Amino acid sequence: MKQTGITASGLKYAEICPGFSNDSDGDTVAADEGKLLHKACETGDLTGLTDEQKEQVEKCLGFIAPMVAGADRDLREQEMRVPIINRRGIVDRLIIKNRTAYAIDWKFGRNPVDDAEINNQGQAYALALLKGMPDIERVVVLFVSPRCNDISKGEFTQADVPRLETRIMTILARRAAVFEEAREDLLNPTDEICRYCGNRGTCPALYSKALVVAQNYADTQLDIPPKFHPSTWTTPEEHSIGRRLALVLEKWVESVKSHNLQFVMDAGQTIPGFEMKTKSGKREIRDTLAAYAALKDDLTVEEFLAACGPVSMTKLEEAVAARAKRGEKSKRKEALYERLTDMGILETGRDVYYLARVRG
Ligand code: SF4
Repeated sequence: MKQTGITASGLKYAEICPGFSNDSDGDTVAADEGKLLHKACETGDLTGLTDEQKEQVEKCLGFIAPMVAGADRDLREQEMRVPIINRRGIVDRLIIKNRTAYAIDWKFGRNPVDDAEINNQGQAYALALLKGMPDIERVVVLFVSPRCNDISKGEFTQADVPRLETRIMTILARRAAVFEEAREDLLNPTDEICRYCGNRGTCPALYSKALVVAQNYADTQLDIPPKFHPSTWTTPEEHSIGRRLALVLEKWVESVKSHNLQFVMDAGQTIPGFEMKTKSGKREIRDTLAAYAALKDDLTVEEFLAACGPVSMTKLEEAVAARAKRGEKSKRKEALYERLTDMGILETGRDVYYLARVRG
């Protein structure tokens, strides 16, 4: 398992499971949006944001406007050093007033964050400010979450410093036990964090959970690969055992999804942590000629055909073959293929490779 450095925002995950590591291959859509909105909060420039995003930024700026009035200092994107983990932390807005530091952090997610009183990141920032700015008597951490309509507040003074330090030191000590002493018993697989963990492909604790599922779900006795991570398999037999195990787990995942949906839809139950959502069904026009007739005053034929999208080669071949005489179907299909290829309008996608189960 790989060990990545701990940031103030990563302390929460490392506290839940000391083996947690950042996933560098993870989805960055939410993080990218967060950066964009933070920048807008910093500069006040909302250019390029959607109406919904502008609304969130305006809520944030509206919240701090009265606090800024009469402030001794008003700092944006204030960098500081978080003690013990010795990492850089950035407070989105730091307002100093009468020996109180207001550390404001924008949270643009759609799920509420932990309360500022107990939030690891907030406590790390409070510690950094209390240790780094001796003239400060009190730190007020404020998490402003406009999409959750929530503002969470935590207050800290010098008297809190020892307990804040102890909490971070405990996290680091447990982490050292996992990575330096191989204490796998400290790993704590939970769905809340394992899906974001860069070690989920190699984690023995997660592997053990998956094995229990697979063993109970398989119709026949399953062989188990001696080592968990597929990159460590060297023989054809290990790859074959791993693929069989993956088939069972894939089936189990599909079964969970379908039974859970039934449980909610048919039995009218709710499942904690999940809610029912719907996606609109696919809209499709079945009669192309009728659609063109309806639109010919609004669109040129070229515009209409461009909106129709790519033509299926398989369907064209079937249409041509249907008009061909017996025994000439293949020849007509080949001629069609050659003609379209010569015209340079037929694009062939890359072949897709997959492993199919051999029966018997
Ligand atoms: S996969 Fe889960 S249990 Fe394993 S190290 Fe990561 S967070 Fe911990």
